[in-house]
Amino acid sequence: KTFADLGVTESLCDACSSLGFTKPTAIQREAIPIALEGKDIIGLAETGSGKTAAFALPILQALLDKPQAMFGLVLAPTRELAYQISQQFEALGSLINVRCAVIVGGMDMVPQAIALAKKPHIVVATPGRLLDHLENTKGFSLRQMKYLVMDEADRLLDLDFGPILDKILQVLPRERRTMLFSATMSTKLNNLTRAALQQPVRVSI
Ligand code: AMP
Repeated sequence: KTFADLGVTESLCDACSSLGFTKPTAIQREAIPIALEGKDIIGLAETGSGKTAAFALPILQALLDKPQAMFGLVLAPTRELAYQISQQFEALGSLINVRCAVIVGGMDMVPQAIALAKKPHIVVATPGRLLDHLENTKGFSLRQMKYLVMDEADRLLDLDFGPILDKILQVLPRERRTMLFSATMSTKLNNLTRAALQQPVRVSI
């Protein structure tokens, strides 16, 4: 199967080939058609499986369909992962000029507030710093977000981001699509999926 067979639109297929993604990985084959149908997803997949493109491509395709600022929020447990995710969004979305902001701890708040004021399409964040901006950066809100991704959700919970995730979920629109990716499942994670996802489809590889 090709990316086009999964329903990925031509310009994004071109972006995949220019990155050397010749054929979809297993998690991409499973998740992309379901995400393109607009369903919530629980994806059991490890780093290295190609899960980033599995959620980035459907979000970019929806963004192409209806261009809008503050379209997608991706939450990641670490700074390093947040930067990697943002790089993939920018690489896959380069042909459509996607703008991303990375909002992570340990960096100056002011440049981040400026980046948010420019209304990027995609915000990739670690939860603690995102909450800090929600509480302290004037004019910043998540009210327009159409997509939420929680990546490496098991690690998000291991790092005790649970209460912060709850606060973030409270200020996201209810009407949105949500995708959660994790290498493992647990009771705590099941509770999070119940709180955050609607009739999710499980995909695993
Ligand atoms: P990830 O699991 O999302 O961190 O991806 C692991 C690595 O695989 C990244 O460096 C991606 O650029 C690469 N990758 C993702 N999808 C594909 C694909 N379909 N073909 C080849 N490489 C890919």
